[in-house]
Amino acid sequence: MANKMKGVTLHAKWDPKPGFKLGPKDIDKRQTYLGSLVYRHPEIKIEDWPIPKPGIDEVLIEVKACGICGSDVHMAQPNDEGYIFYPGLTGFPCILGHELSGVVVDAGKKAFDKITMKPYKGGEKVCTEEMVWCGNCRPCADGQPNHCEKLDEIGFNINGGFAKYIVLPPGCSGPSTPSPNSTRRKRTSSSPAPWSSRPPSPTTPSSSAAAASCPATTSSSSAADPSAWPPPASSSAPARPRSS
Ligand SMILES: [Zn+2]
Ligand SMILES: [Zn+2]
Repeated sequence: MANKMKGVTLHAKWDPKPGFKLGPKDIDKRQTYLGSLVYRHPEIKIEDWPIPKPGIDEVLIEVKACGICGSDVHMAQPNDEGYIFYPGLTGFPCILGHELSGVVVDAGKKAFDKITMKPYKGGEKVCTEEMVWCGNCRPCADGQPNHCEKLDEIGFNINGGFAKYIVLPPGCSGPSTPSPNSTRRKRTSSSPAPWSSRPPSPTTPSSSAAAASCPATTSSSSAADPSAWPPPASSSAPARPRSS
């Protein structure tokens, strides 16, 4: 496998409007929950990125299809003042694309295929979750992972699917064909993750930096418990995250 891939990358200038104050989950010059008040002069570039490597419980997916969402358009589209239209969580530069499916091409030893509850073999067809939530914070515990205190969103503030490959942590990829006895997917990881990790710069050749291009758990203790799948019918499932 080559070690570089092309990524459709959105760049924009961090230029908060007068009066803007960093929110509790904002990170100065790196991410904000109010993109349309902060990011200016968006520009799409097709750039070389290192191909990410999956951690012990992550999967590397070869993207086969990725939709273009209205959010993608609104991130790339400036208003009269040059600010992006998209008002939500954003962090640039970032490879866009969050509505994707593909095939597993590599996986860590502790990345479980939720149909077989065995390690991935490669070749499994999967679709992905756009929201990457921690599973540990209060909103996650309350069944509102879309309000996760450490939320990341692929294609918004971490690298997305307008590229040949993407690495995802456990719970963010699932079979594209549901197993016969399951009606929903469930995040299986309960380990903390280095959510603050940011995508490497497009020109960074370091493979270790590449591994951080998607927030990922690296603890072996995070392996899914096979007995937890499928979840009992009486358990409360996380709320379906909003589509964006
Ligand atoms: Zn959380
Ligand atoms: Zn969308």
